[in-house]
Amino acid sequence: MTKPLSELTTIRVGGTPASLTEVFTRDAVIEETQRIWASGEEWFVLGGGSNVVIADDISTLQVIRVANKGIEKTGHGAIRVQAGENWDDLVRYTVEHHLGGLESLSGIPGTVGAAPVQNIGAYGAELADTFVRCEFLDYLTGEVEIIEKADCGFAYRDSIFKRGKVGVITWVELQLLADLPAGSGELLKRRRDEVLDLRASKGMVLAEHDLDTHSCGSFFTNPIVTSTFARTLPEEAPRWDVDEDGDRVKLSAAWLIEHAGISKGLALGASKAAISSKHALAITNRGGATAAQIGELARFIQERVAATFGINLVPEPNFIGF
Ligand SMILES: Cc1cc2nc3c(=O)[nH]c(=O)nc-3n(C[C@H](O)[C@H](O)[C@H](O)COP(=O)(O)OP(=O)(O)OC[C@H]3O[C@@H](n4cnc5c(N)ncnc54)[C@H](O)[C@@H]3O)c2cc1C
Repeated sequence: MTKPLSELTTIRVGGTPASLTEVFTRDAVIEETQRIWASGEEWFVLGGGSNVVIADDISTLQVIRVANKGIEKTGHGAIRVQAGENWDDLVRYTVEHHLGGLESLSGIPGTVGAAPVQNIGAYGAELADTFVRCEFLDYLTGEVEIIEKADCGFAYRDSIFKRGKVGVITWVELQLLADLPAGSGELLKRRRDEVLDLRASKGMVLAEHDLDTHSCGSFFTNPIVTSTFARTLPEEAPRWDVDEDGDRVKLSAAWLIEHAGISKGLALGASKAAISSKHALAITNRGGATAAQIGELARFIQERVAATFGINLVPEPNFIGF
């Protein structure tokens, strides 16, 4: 089976691969992936398609779409979640079952198996806060292994899975807060609703009718620079200390973009790729944009920010087939 990946990615770009294999159980994830690896062809693992920009021509690529679902209790507040489970369905489940820890990560699109890849995070929380271990099929060894949190190299929007540990995550185990005091269920629900409302106001919750959500979310990570460099920026540029001694500070990529003279809604010429009308950090597809147009706008933003502030913005999504 195959079809254009623009139908399976939230930014709605991506050509038709040589093959598209959807896998619905943990064993099928392993068997089908090993079969494709044995073929020696180029391959790629797709989850919910919310953090990838896939090229217009990927005609030689074999794509494995991870779709195994299931949430299983493994201990007190401990759960094992299959990689193809929808992330936000998992958050809803934990809130409904009065398990604390994921509520601030409500509304992030995509699958559970992709969450460790960039250590998803929002509003002061990140996956690493509750992650315990995952099962991983390693491309180098062909073996299945269990990887503990300490070995995942989690950092801001980063992990070993983004830095060369190639393979497929089949399930993830999390430790959540159980035995919360009476009334906490309502607090978890309120926090979830608050986060969903805030995210929706920025176009950060997927909605078919809202073109501002046809994106990969934030297109660039917030740059981390030395405090010495940060002092060269205008005083009003937002910044947050990253370490206790204040040597490294995190800047706001959205602020840098807007203050490099790039406004919300900007598109280059007749291109259908445009900056979101709600958030300067999201590149959106206004209908029929190509991957090349998305890439062109991303480069334009990078060049403007580099020329204005001397900072190279690093894209957050994964570019495939470019
Ligand atoms: C509107 C919007 C808002 C967003 N908001 C946030 C946010 O607040 N915080 C945040 O951190 N991210 C955010 N994102 C980015 C995205 O939702 C996350 O990165 C998410 O974890 C991607 O999941 P996915 O299943 O869609 O991954 P995909 O886009 O399908 O894949 C992303 C990467 O993970 C790899 N991958 C996928 N599944 C597996 C697997 N099982 N094993 C190994 N590798 C795998 C892929 O090969 C690819 O390299 C947002 C995106 C959108 C569109």
